[in-house]
Amino acid sequence: MYKLEDLTKYEYFKDVDIAYALDSLTGVVSRGYILGFAKHLVDNNVPFMMGIMDIDNFKLVNDNYGHKFGDECLKSLGSNLANYVGDNGLVGRFGGDEFIIIYFGATDYDNVYNYIASIYNCGKIVRRRLNFNNVHFYVTATTGCASFPKDASNYDELFLTIDKALYRGKTKGRNCFIIYVESKHKNIDVHKKEASLLSVIYKNLYNMVNTRDAGANPDEIIKNMLDYVNNILQVSQAVYVKPDKTVISSSASMHQVEDDCLEILADLVQNDEVFAPSNIREVKKNNKKLAKFVDDRNLLTFIISKICSLKHFYGYILLFESKIERIWQDKDVELLMYMDRLIYILLSECNDKME
Ligand code: GH3
Ligand code: MG
Repeated sequence: MYKLEDLTKYEYFKDVDIAYALDSLTGVVSRGYILGFAKHLVDNNVPFMMGIMDIDNFKLVNDNYGHKFGDECLKSLGSNLANYVGDNGLVGRFGGDEFIIIYFGATDYDNVYNYIASIYNCGKIVRRRLNFNNVHFYVTATTGCASFPKDASNYDELFLTIDKALYRGKTKGRNCFIIYVESKHKNIDVHKKEASLLSVIYKNLYNMVNTRDAGANPDEIIKNMLDYVNNILQVSQAVYVKPDKTVISSSASMHQVEDDCLEILADLVQNDEVFAPSNIREVKKNNKKLAKFVDDRNLLTFIISKICSLKHFYGYILLFESKIERIWQDKDVELLMYMDRLIYILLSECNDKME
């Protein structure tokens, strides 16, 4: 936890009220103040390196061990990081599981590399086992770094370059740090990230259903929606299983499911709820039929939503993952639920027309 004198040595914090300047959970500088400080440095033309360190799969920590354990991780990581950085810079909390590191050492690549590598390898911050109340967790994080004015001429650009580096680190496989190098990272498509904003995705899906041509084939619309979601979420397969067991799929390889499939799915999903297991192995252990369903398809994980109301049942949507043990995010579940409701509306309207 920072003390008043740790901050007031910087002009920006001269008259600060420490109660507001620190993050209440971790004791590092709060978001507003660390961002204000970065802006102040840019405005005063002070060279510095800035990194954003984002804990890997932190949602999994909360899901598996509870928020209390998650909070302990954040406290431990934040305070050890601040201690390590010491007088060389300042640490703040940027978001839920993200820390900002401001570093005043030389900003040439080699020096920044050695400095961040030492943070990673000192054994006190990341790449170590955390133990609380007999629960153990190996914590890793991904960091994107860039320097002012070397890589960016203003505050917004500095964040954009860091964002590119961090994005590269996450897509590269996490547990690493990326130092922004213009020739390598300039063209990283942060629009890809923007395009994945839920509001844009929702709008596109909504338009597929609600601006369809009169007489459009609902199967084709559903197929388009599945292809779109498959592409956005980069899952292995997005599938719609109809009540008659025929299938529409983002990959054309599956046309009909086995006789007991609906029974298996009904067991997993009640009413219109979503089934999103955080650990598929545990679910398989207690459900032999499901284990077969999963193994037959080489799935590592999946989520399901049942499309129904009190009156109607229109089948299931499933997102399959067979390449990685994907950790389903809230965004994935929300998107699945949204697609569920749109398909419900689509099929209800088509049924009304036929009646
Ligand atoms: P990634 O490797 O892509 O970073 O995956 P991730 O699971 O870490 O994903 P992300 O960084 O988007 O998720 C951050 C999670 O941090 C989401 C939320 O549950 C958790 N979180 C945010 N604030 C707090 C907090 O104050 N306490 C705890 N325990 N968890 C928090
Ligand atoms: Mg994270």
